[in-house]
Amino acid sequence: MPGWNYAGSDFFSDIAVPHADELDALYRDEHVLAYHLHATILLTPTVVVPKRHLASLACLVIEDEPDLRALFAAVQ
Ligand SMILES: [Zn+2]
Repeated sequence: MPGWNYAGSDFFSDIAVPHADELDALYRDEHVLAYHLHATILLTPTVVVPKRHLASLACLVIEDEPDLRALFAAVQ
């Protein structure tokens, strides 16, 4: 997967979601992608992101509610 030299500002929207087939995905649906981040030897964090770009929790509008609900459901 490309990304080690990524210099953009939105890795998840630009790289992770479009290349989800190349990730160690734990969960995927129409709104959410969850995958293992094999960044270190000792820890394997889980990343959970909305598939649709949401700039910030501080900028959400009512139309974002399905994405946010799906995100929290996936985390649970
Ligand atoms: Zn994004």
